Amino acid sequence: MSLLTLKDIGKIYVSEGNVAVGIRGVNLSFDRGEFVAVTGKSGSGKSTLLNVISGMDSYEEGELFIEGQPTSHYMQKEWEEYREKYISFIFQDYNIIESFTVLQNVELSLMHIEDKKERRARALELLDRVGMTSHIRQKGSKLSGGQKQRTVIARALAKDSPIILADEPTGNLDSTTSDEIIELLREVSRDKLLIVVTHNFEQVEKCATRHIRIFDGAVESDHVISHSEISSDEKTVRSSSENKKKSSDFKKGLTLGKAIFTSKPKLSFFFCLLMIIGTLGIFMVTALCGDAAVLFEKNYMFEHIDGRVVITTQNGEVMSEEDLKAISEKYGAKEYLHYDILLEDYSNYMSFEHEGEEKYLRFCYTYRESFGEDIIGKYPQNNNEVFLYMPISYQPMFGKSSVEIENIYYGSMELKVTGVKYYYDNNLTPKCLFTKEGFRTVTALHYLFDSASNDIRVNVFASEGYLINEIALYNIVPSFDMKDGTAYIESGEYRKFVNTLYDKNYRTQISFTSHYYNYDYNNYGTQKALSFTRLIEDDCIVNVPPEMNRFDGYYDGSIIVSVSLLRDISEEVLERSYRQASLFFENDKEAHAAADKLNNDGYIAVTSDTTYTPEATTVIIGLIVGLMVAFMWLMAIVFLAFFIGLCSNRTIGAFKSDMAIMRSMGIPVKVIKTGMYVRMLIALIPAYILVIATAVLIFTTPKFNEFFTYLYAWQYAVIFIGMLILTFRITRGQVRKLFSESVKKSLKGGSAE
Ligand code: ADP
Ligand code: MG
Repeated sequence: MSLLTLKDIGKIYVSEGNVAVGIRGVNLSFDRGEFVAVTGKSGSGKSTLLNVISGMDSYEEGELFIEGQPTSHYMQKEWEEYREKYISFIFQDYNIIESFTVLQNVELSLMHIEDKKERRARALELLDRVGMTSHIRQKGSKLSGGQKQRTVIARALAKDSPIILADEPTGNLDSTTSDEIIELLREVSRDKLLIVVTHNFEQVEKCATRHIRIFDGAVESDHVISHSEISSDEKTVRSSSENKKKSSDFKKGLTLGKAIFTSKPKLSFFFCLLMIIGTLGIFMVTALCGDAAVLFEKNYMFEHIDGRVVITTQNGEVMSEEDLKAISEKYGAKEYLHYDILLEDYSNYMSFEHEGEEKYLRFCYTYRESFGEDIIGKYPQNNNEVFLYMPISYQPMFGKSSVEIENIYYGSMELKVTGVKYYYDNNLTPKCLFTKEGFRTVTALHYLFDSASNDIRVNVFASEGYLINEIALYNIVPSFDMKDGTAYIESGEYRKFVNTLYDKNYRTQISFTSHYYNYDYNNYGTQKALSFTRLIEDDCIVNVPPEMNRFDGYYDGSIIVSVSLLRDISEEVLERSYRQASLFFENDKEAHAAADKLNNDGYIAVTSDTTYTPEATTVIIGLIVGLMVAFMWLMAIVFLAFFIGLCSNRTIGAFKSDMAIMRSMGIPVKVIKTGMYVRMLIALIPAYILVIATAVLIFTTPKFNEFFTYLYAWQYAVIFIGMLILTFRITRGQVRKLFSESVKKSLKGGSAE
């Protein structure tokens, strides 16, 4: 059985209505070890014959048998397999991949060898055989014609296919080089079928074993010149490599992709840049639009703390500390907090100014909050101590060590900062952490006065109901320290002070400025009671009758009290008026169970993870703003996708001829496609690394941290996967374009460029 048999093969070209006969009625049979010279006039059909044999052109008539198997039913995939297995093609214009080095060009044909070292060794061996050892690192474009053809021969040999087809391999070479090449071809293909098309028969005469003349598409003559010298053991050599471990198409694609990527450094660099711009662009847009995510966040009814239940009595009665403690024990709470108002989101922030900018810290206390071990300084122990938990952008204000940190003020209360911790996630709320007692103190202070004013005023009324002035006050209570018309009284003396006034028939009204209400401590007659009234403070001064104002000028009897006194007073107020408290359970699940029980037992209990529905207008505005931001984000992405697509389509020409050459070499389309995808994916790697590096830089640098919304791992995942999909789509489009044409057409088009 012959290796290759052509039976009545005919090929007709139809283009633009014209019909041209390529070859017709060709009957030929070939075997291993033959050196076949094909000659004929230009246009006689020599190339057509080789193209048909190589499977790069289809045939319309007859049948081509390979090892006895018919091929007329072959589809593209089978032809690819056929080419991969049987054919090596050597062209007149070399068709070397110019951007690849000599070594890469040969290794391209050795991709079936899985082991890298083995592949390299084999390539070097083949290059040595064609005398190219000294040029292995040279790029294809830098070689002379003869060197190119030697490389191509090495490449053809690398494939170790039984059939080598050469279409005027020396057509572009001078006669000495031509002789060398023919010599080389003969030498390397003793165990193969070699078919050489040439217009110069003399050149091949001494090597050829057979001479076929083509005329007008048909075989004119077919002479055997001498018998093949092939020995039987040489014939069996080729099968040895068949059993070796073969790499999968995917692995081949991977190798190819890497080679394509590195072979065009400028283009690859451009692509990396494009991907960097794209990915970084999406990252920046996302980070800048990130605030919009807040609009879709849940609205909690109370500051959400895992396991928190907020309770009140059903009739709105004030709950005492004892009541609360009893409830807490009864329902198995881990902890309770009586005055919990500061946990709520009613603009209850501790604020301070830094370089003209207002900074905020939310209140929290040590029972629930812990920020881990890696803190600067320590957690608070005492009443007047505070720990700050803040985004890295606050670092310039508080420094890098606890030593640097100055104390901060809340109203008139000086707070000692015991420690800080900075975080990078600027979506989190900055917090100031107190001990439970400290939390109670700031609550008392906060509850009584606006944090902007740092004194409270005690107005003293005469029994007639008129306010007296500061000099008169001095006369009434001379035992108290008065400076500049202001009385300073300490916590322990407060009762004494009030009682002295009471004994002398004066009544005191202590008013506190606060943004909700003024709470007045009244002392009328014999009945001492705390009353809770809404009061417009200015009234007190306006209503003073002129005859009581014995002095000209500003009329103000103020007394400065200490923080501890203020706390005592405010606690008295709170004890009689505060109607809400918090219980803390292990987690939200337990909190829900406890809340159900509490509700059954006549309390009003709400877990803090309960959402509430905001007003319709808020919802609608939020939705519109959210949609607009989302739309902007999408537009930015679409623009970037379009931009990347456009740029990469511009580069497609650079690959056209390379892809065609690879196909002509019998590298399966699947492998080449995988290679193209791999190449694009490699271009993505620097972009990903850069985005991560940029993110780390942005979010660890205080100045930048303020501007960009912190993104979470899943958001990076979305960006990265999005870029991946984008890259895949673009590459798919390119691949489709590249492979829509036949190999032959691509080769011609490619080499014409
Ligand atoms: P040779 O290689 O012997 O010079 P070819 O095989 O290239 O000849 O061409 C044989 C005939 O087929 C010629 O008449 C040529 O015009 C025609 N032919 C070859 N390729 C095509 C094609 N792609 N489209 C139309 N006609 C073609
Ligand atoms: Mg030709």
